[in-house]
Amino acid sequence: MSAMISIQNVSKQFGSATVVDEVSLEIETGDFCVIVGPSGSGKSTLLRMINRLEPISNGGIKVQGQDIMRIPSTELRRGMGYVIQGHGLFPHRTVGQNIATVPKLLGWSKNKIDARVKTLLDVFGLNPDVFQNKYPHQLSGGQQQRVGVARALAAEAKILLMDEPFGALDPLTRTKAQDDLLKIQQQLGITVMLVTHDMDEALRLGDKIAVMNNGRVLQYDSPQDILTHPADSFCSQFIGTVD
Ligand code: ADP
Ligand code: MG
Repeated sequence: MSAMISIQNVSKQFGSATVVDEVSLEIETGDFCVIVGPSGSGKSTLLRMINRLEPISNGGIKVQGQDIMRIPSTELRRGMGYVIQGHGLFPHRTVGQNIATVPKLLGWSKNKIDARVKTLLDVFGLNPDVFQNKYPHQLSGGQQQRVGVARALAAEAKILLMDEPFGALDPLTRTKAQDDLLKIQQQLGITVMLVTHDMDEALRLGDKIAVMNNGRVLQYDSPQDILTHPADSFCSQFIGTVD
């Protein structure tokens, strides 16, 4: 298996502070990778370096073997959906128009856009006839969240980056959204990197989990290995926060 994303000795300094410290991770194609750690550990900064929203101070990142600095950022981001907390949908555009945003910018034909919107709504369990013309405020939190992910994937992205996407959802909706995401990931065969401070969520979702603290990845393993062989006292304490 070849790595979809290869993070090689990456560091990030803000002034004199090192917030990401020599991180190396290989994310295999089709994997669900969760970055978990307490607030301020550098998770968001690491994720934002992958789609070039944040410049890298040292080290390098490759996507499908290609150095991201050699890929124009618009092209890079087209292949990489990015979802942050809250759905971020345009309130005055319908669900269909929201999902069509990037394909439209790319100049896809109307037929191709319509077909893509319908496919995505189907995949996300939202009947196109019912939901296409609704506005975001007419949807539940969980439905809005699904439309947000559908929009991020609209231009046939192979990678989905998610930063605490379920933070705003109530516990029941969150569990449902997590289950949906796992199904969608398998159905579309995409590679996912998801950031969370919630170890419970990491264990539910991850094929691989990277535990971060103070800018460093302390352990990168399967959930099973994280649970049974925590790398150090921080990791075992962090696992102890699971209910
Ligand atoms: P996390 O997502 O794990 O909560 P972040 O990556 O957001 O952590 O932040 C890591 C550290 O970097 C924090 O101490 C934060 O204050 C700092 N930081 C993040 N962005 C900036 C910035 N643009 N300028 C200065 N410091 C920043
Ligand atoms: Mg963050």
